[in-house]
Amino acid sequence: MMNFEQITTLENEHTSGSYSKRPLDLVRGSGVEVFDSYGKRYLDMTSGQGVALLGHAHPRVAEAIATQAHTLITCPEIFYNDRRAELYAELSKHLPNGLNRMFLCNSGAEANEGALKVARILTDRPKVIATMRGFHGRTMGALSLTWNKKYRDSFEDWTIPVTHVPYNDLDAIARAIDGQTAAVVLEAIQGEGGVNPADAAYLQGVRALCSQHGTMLVFDEVQAGLGRTGRWFAFEHANIVPDIISLGKGIAGGVPMGAVVWNGAHGMLPSASHGSTFGGNPLACAASIATLQTLEQEQLPQRSHELGQWALESLSQLDSPHIREVRGRGMMIGIELKSRVTPVLMSLQEQGILALTAGNNVLRLLPPLIVTEAQLQETLTAIEHALRAL
Ligand SMILES: *Cc1c(COP(=O)(O)O)cnc(C)c1O
Repeated sequence: MMNFEQITTLENEHTSGSYSKRPLDLVRGSGVEVFDSYGKRYLDMTSGQGVALLGHAHPRVAEAIATQAHTLITCPEIFYNDRRAELYAELSKHLPNGLNRMFLCNSGAEANEGALKVARILTDRPKVIATMRGFHGRTMGALSLTWNKKYRDSFEDWTIPVTHVPYNDLDAIARAIDGQTAAVVLEAIQGEGGVNPADAAYLQGVRALCSQHGTMLVFDEVQAGLGRTGRWFAFEHANIVPDIISLGKGIAGGVPMGAVVWNGAHGMLPSASHGSTFGGNPLACAASIATLQTLEQEQLPQRSHELGQWALESLSQLDSPHIREVRGRGMMIGIELKSRVTPVLMSLQEQGILALTAGNNVLRLLPPLIVTEAQLQETLTAIEHALRAL
Protein backbone atom coordinates (compact mmCIF):
# COMPACT_ATOMS: atom_id res chain seq x y z
CA MET A 1 0.00 0.00 0.00
CA MET A 2 1.22 3.53 -0.79
CA ASN A 3 1.86 5.93 2.06
CA PHE A 4 0.75 9.58 2.34
CA GLU A 5 4.00 10.86 0.79
CA GLN A 6 3.76 8.60 -2.24
CA ILE A 7 0.06 9.25 -2.81
CA THR A 8 0.29 13.04 -2.65
CA THR A 9 3.49 13.21 -4.69
CA LEU A 10 1.98 11.18 -7.53
CA GLU A 11 -1.29 13.09 -7.45
CA ASN A 12 0.44 16.46 -7.41
CA GLU A 13 2.50 15.43 -10.43
CA HIS A 14 -0.59 14.75 -12.52
CA THR A 15 -3.63 16.50 -11.05
CA SER A 16 -5.47 19.03 -13.24
CA GLY A 17 -4.96 22.02 -10.98
CA SER A 18 -8.70 22.69 -10.81
CA TYR A 19 -9.13 21.40 -7.27
CA SER A 20 -7.77 23.05 -4.14
CA LYS A 21 -7.00 19.88 -2.24
CA ARG A 22 -6.91 19.46 1.51
CA PRO A 23 -3.74 17.84 2.86
CA LEU A 24 -5.55 14.61 3.66
CA ASP A 25 -5.88 11.27 1.87
CA LEU A 26 -8.87 8.99 2.33
CA VAL A 27 -8.35 5.33 1.62
CA ARG A 28 -11.19 3.49 3.35
CA GLY A 29 -14.66 4.07 4.74
CA SER A 30 -17.33 2.35 6.75
CA GLY A 31 -20.66 3.95 7.54
CA VAL A 32 -20.12 7.55 8.63
CA GLU A 33 -16.41 6.93 9.25
CA VAL A 34 -13.56 7.34 6.78
CA PHE A 35 -9.86 6.63 7.35
CA ASP A 36 -6.62 8.14 6.03
CA SER A 37 -3.52 6.16 5.12
CA TYR A 38 -2.14 6.57 8.67
CA GLY A 39 -5.29 4.87 9.95
CA LYS A 40 -6.71 8.03 11.53
CA ARG A 41 -10.50 8.04 11.69
CA TYR A 42 -12.73 10.92 10.62
CA LEU A 43 -16.48 11.45 10.80
CA ASP A 44 -17.55 12.24 7.24
CA MET A 45 -20.04 15.08 7.59
CA THR A 46 -19.64 15.71 3.83
CA SER A 47 -21.05 12.34 2.65
CA GLY A 48 -18.25 12.62 0.08
CA GLN A 49 -19.85 15.87 -1.17
CA GLY A 50 -23.46 14.86 -0.67
CA VAL A 51 -23.16 11.43 -2.28
CA ALA A 52 -22.98 8.80 0.46
CA LEU A 53 -26.59 8.99 1.71
CA LEU A 54 -26.15 5.52 3.25
CA GLY A 55 -22.59 6.16 4.41
CA HIS A 56 -19.57 4.38 2.98
CA ALA A 57 -19.25 0.75 1.94
CA HIS A 58 -22.88 0.03 2.80
CA PRO A 59 -23.18 -3.79 2.70
CA ARG A 60 -26.36 -3.80 0.60
CA VAL A 61 -24.92 -1.43 -2.00
CA ALA A 62 -21.58 -3.26 -2.05
CA GLU A 63 -23.37 -6.59 -2.45
CA ALA A 64 -25.58 -5.27 -5.28
CA ILE A 65 -22.53 -3.90 -7.11
CA ALA A 66 -20.53 -7.12 -6.68
CA THR A 67 -23.40 -9.33 -7.83
CA GLN A 68 -24.11 -7.14 -10.85
CA ALA A 69 -20.40 -6.94 -11.72
CA HIS A 70 -20.41 -10.73 -12.01
CA THR A 71 -23.60 -10.63 -14.11
CA LEU A 72 -23.56 -7.73 -16.61
CA ILE A 73 -21.83 -4.37 -16.19
CA THR A 74 -22.63 -2.64 -19.43
CA CYS A 75 -25.72 -2.60 -21.62
CA PRO A 76 -26.47 0.43 -23.79
CA GLU A 77 -30.01 1.72 -24.05
CA ILE A 78 -30.44 0.29 -27.54
CA PHE A 79 -31.21 -2.90 -25.60
CA TYR A 80 -33.68 -3.52 -22.78
CA ASN A 81 -32.27 -4.57 -19.40
CA ASP A 82 -33.80 -6.08 -16.25
CA ARG A 83 -31.96 -3.82 -13.77
CA ARG A 84 -32.93 -0.65 -15.69
CA ALA A 85 -36.59 -1.70 -15.76
CA GLU A 86 -36.46 -2.42 -12.03
CA LEU A 87 -34.86 0.96 -11.31
CA TYR A 88 -37.59 2.83 -13.21
CA ALA A 89 -40.21 1.03 -11.09
CA GLU A 90 -38.31 1.66 -7.85
CA LEU A 91 -37.81 5.38 -8.47
CA SER A 92 -41.41 5.79 -9.64
CA LYS A 93 -42.68 4.64 -6.23
CA HIS A 94 -41.37 7.87 -4.72
CA LEU A 95 -42.14 10.33 -7.51
CA PRO A 96 -45.38 12.31 -7.69
CA ASN A 97 -47.95 11.11 -10.23
CA GLY A 98 -47.14 12.32 -13.72
CA LEU A 99 -43.35 12.43 -13.31
CA ASN A 100 -42.99 9.23 -15.30
CA ARG A 101 -40.46 9.77 -18.11
CA MET A 102 -36.77 9.39 -17.37
CA PHE A 103 -33.42 9.82 -19.06
CA LEU A 104 -30.57 8.12 -17.19
CA CYS A 105 -27.06 9.55 -17.28
CA ASN A 106 -23.90 9.77 -15.17
CA SER A 107 -23.70 12.96 -13.12
CA GLY A 108 -25.57 15.98 -11.84
CA ALA A 109 -24.23 18.29 -14.52
CA GLU A 110 -25.24 15.79 -17.19
CA ALA A 111 -28.71 15.57 -15.67
CA ASN A 112 -29.05 19.35 -15.94
CA GLU A 113 -27.80 19.27 -19.54
CA GLY A 114 -30.56 16.75 -20.17
CA ALA A 115 -33.14 18.85 -18.34
CA LEU A 116 -32.29 21.83 -20.58
CA LYS A 117 -32.68 19.72 -23.71
CA VAL A 118 -35.97 18.27 -22.51
CA ALA A 119 -37.33 21.75 -21.72
CA ARG A 120 -36.16 23.09 -25.08
CA ILE A 121 -37.67 20.18 -27.01
CA LEU A 122 -40.98 20.09 -25.12
CA THR A 123 -41.59 23.85 -25.46
CA ASP A 124 -39.66 24.81 -28.59
CA ARG A 125 -38.79 28.10 -26.84
CA PRO A 126 -35.39 29.84 -26.45
CA LYS A 127 -35.33 31.55 -23.02
CA VAL A 128 -34.20 30.16 -19.66
CA ILE A 129 -34.41 31.69 -16.17
CA ALA A 130 -32.23 30.56 -13.26
CA THR A 131 -31.48 32.08 -9.86
CA MET A 132 -28.62 33.99 -8.30
CA ARG A 133 -26.47 31.80 -6.05
CA GLY A 134 -27.83 28.73 -7.87
CA PHE A 135 -25.39 25.92 -8.62
CA HIS A 136 -26.11 23.41 -11.37
CA GLY A 137 -22.77 22.02 -12.50
CA ARG A 138 -19.81 22.94 -14.67
CA THR A 139 -20.36 21.59 -18.18
CA MET A 140 -21.35 24.27 -20.72
CA GLY A 141 -25.14 24.02 -20.46
CA ALA A 142 -25.17 23.42 -16.72
CA LEU A 143 -22.55 26.16 -16.30
CA SER A 144 -24.89 28.58 -18.06
CA LEU A 145 -27.40 27.92 -15.26
CA THR A 146 -24.79 28.23 -12.51
CA TRP A 147 -24.58 31.75 -11.14
CA ASN A 148 -21.13 32.14 -9.59
CA LYS A 149 -18.84 34.24 -11.82
CA LYS A 150 -15.82 32.32 -10.51
CA TYR A 151 -16.96 29.24 -12.46
CA ARG A 152 -18.25 31.10 -15.54
CA ASP A 153 -15.71 33.85 -16.21
CA SER A 154 -13.42 32.08 -18.70
CA PHE A 155 -16.36 30.73 -20.68
CA GLU A 156 -18.87 33.59 -20.72
CA ASP A 157 -19.08 33.74 -24.53
CA TRP A 158 -19.47 29.96 -24.81
CA THR A 159 -22.44 29.58 -22.47
CA ILE A 160 -26.10 29.73 -23.47
CA PRO A 161 -28.05 32.87 -22.56
CA VAL A 162 -29.71 32.53 -19.14
CA THR A 163 -31.38 35.28 -17.10
CA HIS A 164 -30.36 35.07 -13.44
CA VAL A 165 -32.89 36.54 -11.01
CA PRO A 166 -32.67 36.98 -7.21
CA TYR A 167 -33.60 33.80 -5.32
CA ASN A 168 -36.75 33.69 -3.22
CA ASP A 169 -38.08 36.82 -5.02
CA LEU A 170 -41.32 36.05 -6.85
CA ASP A 171 -41.64 39.49 -8.45
CA ALA A 172 -38.25 38.97 -10.09
CA ILE A 173 -39.50 35.79 -11.80
CA ALA A 174 -42.77 37.49 -12.72
CA ARG A 175 -40.83 40.26 -14.46
CA ALA A 176 -38.50 37.88 -16.31
CA ILE A 177 -40.92 35.18 -17.50
CA ASP A 178 -42.88 35.42 -20.76
CA GLY A 179 -44.33 33.28 -23.56
CA GLN A 180 -40.82 32.61 -24.88
CA THR A 181 -39.52 31.13 -21.60
CA ALA A 182 -38.77 27.42 -21.94
CA ALA A 183 -37.75 26.81 -18.33
CA VAL A 184 -37.30 28.20 -14.85
CA VAL A 185 -34.51 26.20 -13.19
CA LEU A 186 -33.88 26.34 -9.45
CA GLU A 187 -33.06 24.41 -6.27
CA ALA A 188 -35.80 24.20 -3.61
CA ILE A 189 -32.97 24.74 -1.12
CA GLN A 190 -29.71 26.06 -2.53
CA GLY A 191 -26.69 23.94 -1.61
CA GLU A 192 -23.39 25.38 -2.87
CA GLY A 193 -24.94 28.85 -2.82
CA GLY A 194 -25.03 28.90 0.99
CA VAL A 195 -27.69 26.43 2.18
CA ASN A 196 -30.60 28.77 1.46
CA PRO A 197 -34.10 27.28 1.81
CA ALA A 198 -36.77 28.95 -0.36
CA ASP A 199 -40.13 29.92 1.15
CA ALA A 200 -42.98 27.57 0.27
CA ALA A 201 -45.05 30.55 -0.91
CA TYR A 202 -42.28 31.54 -3.33
CA LEU A 203 -42.06 28.07 -4.83
CA GLN A 204 -45.86 27.89 -5.11
CA GLY A 205 -45.83 31.27 -6.82
CA VAL A 206 -43.16 30.12 -9.28
CA ARG A 207 -45.26 27.02 -9.97
CA ALA A 208 -48.30 29.18 -10.77
CA LEU A 209 -46.30 31.54 -13.03
CA CYS A 210 -44.81 28.62 -14.97
CA SER A 211 -48.24 27.03 -15.47
CA GLN A 212 -49.67 30.36 -16.60
CA HIS A 213 -46.93 30.85 -19.24
CA GLY A 214 -46.56 27.23 -20.38
CA THR A 215 -43.01 27.24 -18.97
CA MET A 216 -41.32 24.09 -17.64
CA LEU A 217 -40.63 24.32 -13.91
CA VAL A 218 -37.33 22.50 -13.37
CA PHE A 219 -36.12 21.56 -9.90
CA ASP A 220 -32.49 20.67 -9.52
CA GLU A 221 -32.71 17.96 -6.83
CA VAL A 222 -29.14 16.76 -7.36
CA GLN A 223 -28.07 17.70 -3.81
CA ALA A 224 -31.40 18.13 -1.99
CA GLY A 225 -33.20 15.09 -3.39
CA LEU A 226 -33.61 11.51 -2.16
CA GLY A 227 -34.20 12.16 1.52
CA ARG A 228 -31.46 14.69 2.17
CA THR A 229 -33.88 17.41 3.35
CA GLY A 230 -36.24 15.15 5.29
CA ARG A 231 -38.59 14.39 2.38
CA TRP A 232 -37.95 12.24 -0.68
CA PHE A 233 -37.69 15.44 -2.73
CA ALA A 234 -37.10 18.98 -1.50
CA PHE A 235 -39.94 20.41 -3.61
CA GLU A 236 -42.37 18.39 -1.46
CA HIS A 237 -41.86 20.92 1.35
CA ALA A 238 -43.88 23.34 -0.81
CA ASN A 239 -46.54 20.80 -1.83
CA ILE A 240 -46.02 21.39 -5.52
CA VAL A 241 -45.08 19.19 -8.46
CA PRO A 242 -42.50 20.41 -10.99
CA ASP A 243 -42.48 19.50 -14.69
CA ILE A 244 -38.87 18.32 -14.76
CA ILE A 245 -36.37 17.31 -12.07
CA SER A 246 -32.68 16.46 -12.20
CA LEU A 247 -31.08 13.93 -9.86
CA GLY A 248 -27.50 12.89 -9.18
CA LYS A 249 -25.08 12.68 -6.24
CA GLY A 250 -26.54 10.01 -3.91
CA ILE A 251 -28.88 8.32 -6.39
CA ALA A 252 -26.69 5.22 -6.77
CA GLY A 253 -25.02 5.11 -3.36
CA GLY A 254 -21.73 6.47 -4.70
CA VAL A 255 -21.63 4.93 -8.17
CA PRO A 256 -21.76 7.73 -10.77
CA MET A 257 -25.32 8.26 -11.94
CA GLY A 258 -27.71 11.03 -12.83
CA ALA A 259 -31.29 11.18 -14.03
CA VAL A 260 -33.69 13.60 -15.66
CA VAL A 261 -37.33 12.93 -14.82
CA TRP A 262 -40.25 14.74 -16.42
CA ASN A 263 -43.99 14.80 -16.80
CA GLY A 264 -44.80 12.56 -19.75
CA ALA A 265 -47.99 14.52 -20.44
CA HIS A 266 -45.72 17.17 -22.00
CA GLY A 267 -44.28 14.60 -24.40
CA MET A 268 -41.27 12.38 -24.98
CA LEU A 269 -37.91 13.04 -26.60
CA PRO A 270 -37.77 12.57 -30.37
CA SER A 271 -35.59 9.73 -31.59
CA ALA A 272 -31.82 10.43 -31.41
CA SER A 273 -32.27 13.86 -29.76
CA HIS A 274 -30.13 12.81 -26.76
CA GLY A 275 -27.97 9.88 -25.66
CA SER A 276 -25.24 8.57 -23.37
CA THR A 277 -23.02 5.50 -23.72
CA PHE A 278 -23.00 4.71 -20.00
CA GLY A 279 -26.47 6.08 -19.22
CA GLY A 280 -28.71 3.49 -17.55
CA ASN A 281 -25.95 0.89 -17.28
CA PRO A 282 -26.88 -2.17 -15.17
CA LEU A 283 -24.09 -1.63 -12.61
CA ALA A 284 -25.28 1.87 -11.67
CA CYS A 285 -28.92 0.76 -11.83
CA ALA A 286 -28.24 -2.15 -9.44
CA ALA A 287 -26.46 0.18 -7.01
CA SER A 288 -29.32 2.65 -7.26
CA ILE A 289 -32.01 0.02 -6.64
CA ALA A 290 -30.20 -1.12 -3.48
CA THR A 291 -29.82 2.51 -2.35
CA LEU A 292 -33.46 3.45 -2.94
CA GLN A 293 -34.73 0.26 -1.26
CA THR A 294 -32.56 0.88 1.79
CA LEU A 295 -33.64 4.53 2.01
CA GLU A 296 -37.25 3.35 1.99
CA GLN A 297 -36.98 0.33 4.29
CA GLU A 298 -34.97 2.17 6.91
CA GLN A 299 -37.21 5.25 6.57
CA LEU A 300 -34.18 7.44 6.13
CA PRO A 301 -35.98 10.52 4.74
CA GLN A 302 -38.05 10.60 7.95
CA ARG A 303 -34.92 10.01 10.02
CA SER A 304 -33.22 12.88 8.19
CA HIS A 305 -36.17 15.10 9.11
CA GLU A 306 -36.04 14.19 12.80
CA LEU A 307 -32.26 14.41 13.15
CA GLY A 308 -32.34 17.70 11.26
CA GLN A 309 -34.78 19.26 13.70
CA TRP A 310 -32.68 18.06 16.61
CA ALA A 311 -29.45 19.36 15.04
CA LEU A 312 -30.90 22.77 14.12
CA GLU A 313 -32.25 23.17 17.64
CA SER A 314 -28.95 22.17 19.23
CA LEU A 315 -26.99 24.44 16.91
CA SER A 316 -29.22 27.43 17.58
CA GLN A 317 -28.44 26.98 21.27
CA LEU A 318 -24.73 27.39 20.56
CA ASP A 319 -24.04 30.74 22.11
CA SER A 320 -21.24 32.05 19.92
CA PRO A 321 -20.58 35.64 18.80
CA HIS A 322 -19.17 34.19 15.56
CA ILE A 323 -22.47 32.71 14.33
CA ARG A 324 -24.72 34.89 12.16
CA GLU A 325 -27.38 32.31 11.35
CA VAL A 326 -28.09 28.59 11.45
CA ARG A 327 -30.39 27.21 8.73
CA GLY A 328 -31.22 24.13 6.71
CA ARG A 329 -33.57 21.20 6.32
CA GLY A 330 -32.99 17.62 7.39
CA MET A 331 -29.39 16.56 6.93
CA MET A 332 -28.53 19.69 4.91
CA ILE A 333 -27.30 22.23 7.40
CA GLY A 334 -25.60 25.60 7.03
CA ILE A 335 -23.95 27.59 9.77
CA GLU A 336 -23.27 31.12 8.57
CA LEU A 337 -20.37 32.78 10.37
CA LYS A 338 -19.51 36.45 10.57
CA SER A 339 -16.01 35.55 9.40
CA ARG A 340 -14.35 33.20 6.91
CA VAL A 341 -15.03 29.57 7.56
CA THR A 342 -11.62 28.08 6.65
CA PRO A 343 -10.12 28.16 10.20
CA VAL A 344 -13.19 26.33 11.53
CA LEU A 345 -12.92 23.74 8.78
CA MET A 346 -9.26 23.15 9.62
CA SER A 347 -9.92 22.89 13.34
CA LEU A 348 -12.70 20.39 12.67
CA GLN A 349 -10.38 18.29 10.54
CA GLU A 350 -7.79 18.25 13.35
CA GLN A 351 -10.57 17.08 15.65
CA GLY A 352 -11.46 14.27 13.24
CA ILE A 353 -14.51 15.82 11.57
CA LEU A 354 -14.80 16.47 7.83
CA ALA A 355 -17.17 19.26 6.77
CA LEU A 356 -17.81 21.46 3.72
CA THR A 357 -18.10 25.13 2.96
CA ALA A 358 -20.79 26.88 0.94
CA GLY A 359 -19.20 30.14 -0.10
CA ASN A 360 -16.68 31.95 2.10
CA ASN A 361 -18.54 32.08 5.39
CA VAL A 362 -21.00 29.21 5.53
CA LEU A 363 -20.01 25.91 7.16
CA ARG A 364 -22.03 23.18 5.46
CA LEU A 365 -22.87 19.79 6.94
CA LEU A 366 -24.20 17.02 4.69
CA PRO A 367 -24.03 13.96 6.98
CA PRO A 368 -25.02 10.53 5.70
CA LEU A 369 -28.68 9.90 6.58
CA ILE A 370 -27.60 6.94 8.73
CA VAL A 371 -25.64 9.25 11.07
CA THR A 372 -26.31 8.67 14.78
CA GLU A 373 -27.27 11.32 17.29
CA ALA A 374 -23.99 10.62 19.09
CA GLN A 375 -21.99 11.30 15.91
CA LEU A 376 -23.90 14.54 15.34
CA GLN A 377 -23.30 15.50 18.96
CA GLU A 378 -19.58 14.82 18.52
CA THR A 379 -19.66 17.15 15.51
CA LEU A 380 -21.51 19.91 17.35
CA THR A 381 -19.09 19.73 20.26
CA ALA A 382 -16.17 20.01 17.83
CA ILE A 383 -17.79 23.03 16.14
CA GLU A 384 -18.30 24.67 19.53
CA HIS A 385 -14.64 24.05 20.34
CA ALA A 386 -13.50 25.43 16.96
CA LEU A 387 -15.60 28.57 17.37
CA ARG A 388 -14.28 29.16 20.87
CA ALA A 389 -10.70 29.01 19.56
CA LEU A 390 -11.35 31.69 16.90
C1 LIG B 1 -23.29 18.86 -7.20
C2 LIG B 1 -24.41 19.54 -7.88
C3 LIG B 1 -24.52 19.55 -9.29
C4 LIG B 1 -23.46 18.98 -10.19
O1 LIG B 1 -23.31 17.61 -10.06
P1 LIG B 1 -21.98 16.91 -10.67
O2 LIG B 1 -22.26 15.46 -10.48
O3 LIG B 1 -20.82 17.42 -9.89
O4 LIG B 1 -21.91 17.29 -12.09
C5 LIG B 1 -25.64 20.12 -9.84
N1 LIG B 1 -26.61 20.67 -9.08
C6 LIG B 1 -26.53 20.70 -7.74
C7 LIG B 1 -27.63 21.31 -6.95
C8 LIG B 1 -25.43 20.14 -7.09
O5 LIG B 1 -25.33 20.21 -5.76
